[in-house]
Amino acid sequence: MRKFLLAAGLSLSILPSALAQHWGYDGHEGPQHWGEMSEGWATCAAGQQQSPIDLGTSSGLGLQSMAIDWPETLSGTVIDNGHTIQVNVEPGGSLTIAGHDYALVQFHFHAASEHTVNGRHAPMEVHFVHADENGGLAVIGVLVEAGAPLSSLGSVWAVNPQPEINSGGIAASVRLNEFLPADRSAWRYAGSLTTPPCSETVTWTVFRHPVTASAAQIAWFEDRHPHSYRPAMPLHRRLVLQIGG
Ligand SMILES: [Zn+2]
Repeated sequence: MRKFLLAAGLSLSILPSALAQHWGYDGHEGPQHWGEMSEGWATCAAGQQQSPIDLGTSSGLGLQSMAIDWPETLSGTVIDNGHTIQVNVEPGGSLTIAGHDYALVQFHFHAASEHTVNGRHAPMEVHFVHADENGGLAVIGVLVEAGAPLSSLGSVWAVNPQPEINSGGIAASVRLNEFLPADRSAWRYAGSLTTPPCSETVTWTVFRHPVTASAAQIAWFEDRHPHSYRPAMPLHRRLVLQIGG
């Protein structure tokens, strides 16, 4: 974190107390240490349903229906929270899994991907975080490979939010559906937040097919938040189900 903040041109003296618990992706603040850094983060080390995981094989077919209902465009504020670029969206997007409704709250990015497929990372992964009224989360993971540009990604990067701690963010309008692959077949499993406190409250859906972004678009985020992924965690006794497209 110290290295990051200095790289971002921020003085340590302006750190608010909210950032007293530092975490990062490397060294003493890295994922191997999250579980011992704070009492509230013990699940990061002791949990049996942690994310991400390696995908590629599935235990069987899932019969749960899934419906993504995102408006054509959605407004949001783009922030750099020190760990990722995140877009906090206005209400309007929803996700229904087996009759259970979740509302889209925010989406953010990781480089490389957090979920791996047969051990391989994609260059990037986007997480669309949906929440229900009881604190349950449903996150959609979209893998991003290098190829044709993704114009929606360009509109987020163009905001270029600076990692200022008290920044309220900058508005942007994003065509969300461009982030979805045409083939919606997916892996589904029960997991966790991939950042502290690693709460095991997430129903994960990761699409089998990636979308593409240009090499320059991927490089822009890699440069801003390099190595911003948690390594794959043990599957333990969980099932990974295959969901139809
Ligand atoms: Zn994430």
